[in-house]
Amino acid sequence: MCKLRDCSVCECSENEFPEPFRKPYSGLSPDSMMCQEGKPQAAVDKTLDSKVFKRWVETDNPWTSDDETDNNEMTYVNLQLNPERYTGYTGDSARRIWDAIYKENCPKYPSEELCHEKKVLYKLISGLHSSISVHIAYDYLLDESTNSWGQNLSLLYDRVLKYPERVQNLYFTYLFVLRAVTKAADYLEQAEYNTGNPEDDLKTESLVKQLLYNSQLRSACPLPFDEAKLWQGENGPELKQEIQKQFRNISAIMDCVGCEKCRLWGKLQVLGLGTALKILFSVDGDSHLNQPLQLQRNEVIALFNLLNRLSESVKFVHEKGSSVEEVINEQSPSTVQKGASKTNLKGLFGYSQYTWIGWD
Ligand SMILES: Cc1cc2nc3c(=O)[nH]c(=O)nc-3n(C[C@H](O)[C@H](O)[C@H](O)COP(=O)(O)OP(=O)(O)OC[C@H]3O[C@@H](n4cnc5c(N)ncnc54)[C@H](O)[C@@H]3O)c2cc1C
Repeated sequence: MCKLRDCSVCECSENEFPEPFRKPYSGLSPDSMMCQEGKPQAAVDKTLDSKVFKRWVETDNPWTSDDETDNNEMTYVNLQLNPERYTGYTGDSARRIWDAIYKENCPKYPSEELCHEKKVLYKLISGLHSSISVHIAYDYLLDESTNSWGQNLSLLYDRVLKYPERVQNLYFTYLFVLRAVTKAADYLEQAEYNTGNPEDDLKTESLVKQLLYNSQLRSACPLPFDEAKLWQGENGPELKQEIQKQFRNISAIMDCVGCEKCRLWGKLQVLGLGTALKILFSVDGDSHLNQPLQLQRNEVIALFNLLNRLSESVKFVHEKGSSVEEVINEQSPSTVQKGASKTNLKGLFGYSQYTWIGWD
């Protein structure tokens, strides 16, 4: 279980809600819930104003287990106040969740008999797992007594860099999500980014366009992932349904994460992956291939946040990858001897961050 107060999520009080999300005359008393991060007390009205969702079509995502249309189940959280970082969530509880995800959903990996599609599912999860570990290493509680936070390069090495496959899977997941975002460019450009603050809204629209039509990104990486190669076999539709069910199962497991902040980011990022899957592989298992794309507001938020998390992870790994071994060597030579050789690491980080990584 979590050791830190820091694992709890600081939910927004009514007056922090963007204006269009507010429900008139609602709101809990300011002291009805103590924000456990030492930040101002926060009370949450779990009802989001349905007016806000008026122009967002209500549509379910077959890849995820949550009912994205049930606004009563939602609460509003400022992600900037709740950064993804070390929370102290370790031990059996955390391990059981990862075990459940890998054993129940990708049990045979890396068996050669496994079809491409199942390997893709495994790599997406492993890549997300790597990214979570990278963020823990990037923002770690170095000294609890002085509350000093900083980078933990040994952890980065021990959990991610030492295993070239985990780094590859991180890149893979990043490219997969990047492909989904670029594929949905027309939709994402038109989407309504309404926070009630005209300045923020204009800025968001401009940033979204910069991302979607970034010429450097487009020329460096015209097709980050080729989704057309999947589901081509005779049993493609059945396989898609099977994998959809497995991913829904993973999405449901996120509700069992016993640390609030980890659950927040776990659910958000799994929803982001589910959104990427929905964009790349149509809306339903088989019969609605040509149906126009429709996303929920939360799916768009999850998709962009996931891309941000993954790209930050790739950046950190790219920056530290080739030098971290020397740093750790100086700190504790014995840790490094057990790991990958220098040549391996250098070779690995020779990848451009936009390089295509095959899924075989
Ligand atoms: C959904 C979720 C979100 C979390 N978010 C946070 C968070 O925000 N902050 C925080 O401090 N903790 C978080 N945790 C806990 C964190 O992920 C670790 O479980 C915890 O730090 C203990 O790490 P560990 O070294 O025991 O190995 P774990 O990371 O728990 O890994 C368990 C096992 O999985 C395998 N494994 C590890 N990485 C990979 C990979 N990339 N690909 C394939 N297999 C792998 C290894 O065999 C490893 O022993 C989260 C856990 C979950 C389940």
